[in-house]
Amino acid sequence: MLKILSASAVALCGLLLLGIESQAQTDFKVTLLGTASPSPRPTRFGPSTLVEAGDKKLLIDMGRGVPIRLWQLKVPMGKIDAHFITHYHSDHVSGVPDVWLTGWLSPPFGRRTTPFRVIGPTGAKSLMENLQKAYALDIRIRVADEKLPPAGVAVKAEEFSKDGAVFDEGGVKVTAFEVDHGDAIKPAYGYRVDYKGHSAVISGDTRYNKNVIKYGTGADVLIHEVGSARPELMASSEAVRRIIAHHTTPKECGEVFAQAKPKLAVYTHIVLLSSEKISEPTLEDVVAETRQTYSGPLQLGEDLMAFEIGEVVTVKPFGK
Ligand SMILES: [Zn+2]
Ligand SMILES: [Zn+2]
Repeated sequence: MLKILSASAVALCGLLLLGIESQAQTDFKVTLLGTASPSPRPTRFGPSTLVEAGDKKLLIDMGRGVPIRLWQLKVPMGKIDAHFITHYHSDHVSGVPDVWLTGWLSPPFGRRTTPFRVIGPTGAKSLMENLQKAYALDIRIRVADEKLPPAGVAVKAEEFSKDGAVFDEGGVKVTAFEVDHGDAIKPAYGYRVDYKGHSAVISGDTRYNKNVIKYGTGADVLIHEVGSARPELMASSEAVRRIIAHHTTPKECGEVFAQAKPKLAVYTHIVLLSSEKISEPTLEDVVAETRQTYSGPLQLGEDLMAFEIGEVVTVKPFGK
């Protein structure tokens, strides 16, 4: 915990430029629900980001633990308007059945009464069709026993296969853009959310990619994944080299941020690799390497950290 706090303090230095004290009320907020990769960590759950804009609530990816994080915020799963998927690595979708089915239950954390809307690249329909088969017994039992509304467990899956707008309602526009997560890991997309002249961009999982720069240019908040391993571990392990080649190193992220020039750059999906003999890089290491190529505002994400987006961007660690 101390490590995280001190690294955040390092990263926060850039925020002084943002004039964070004069923030007015805004109805555009992005909250990191989970900031880890597949690695099971008690303080960082699986990848997921909540976007609240006007009266819309959107989830981007649903990794491990989403219902827990949402309910820490007192956001009922039944109130989510649309569920977006960046790609089909299990760390990004393992929470889908949990959000779908737990969000249908009758306690206040659930209460969905309209279809579970999923928007993702090609594969979303097949994922949801197969989940419906896998959980058919639960669904049948709860309809018969608990009298839950069948409409709340119904599924509306929408797919896309190229860059473009995938959601445009209530003044909130979501644009999908293809990223590069590796030659065999397709499809893989990021999302840009535009609302009232402001924008939040989420890279999804990607290596250094020009399309992130294209769609991230001028964004209020550019939320980017990052992957790092110590040089001696990279040198000694083919598997580590392969994993890091599927992600963006801190130095490369700095190059993306330096070109896109967001008001605030944020790290999420923090992949830190280690072995039995070689420790993982620290968060301070990640920030220091980023600083080789980028000197602008930067924030290391933490679970439940929120970003209020208006004329300025305000960073709100959970509970503060
Ligand atoms: Zn991932
Ligand atoms: Zn991935």
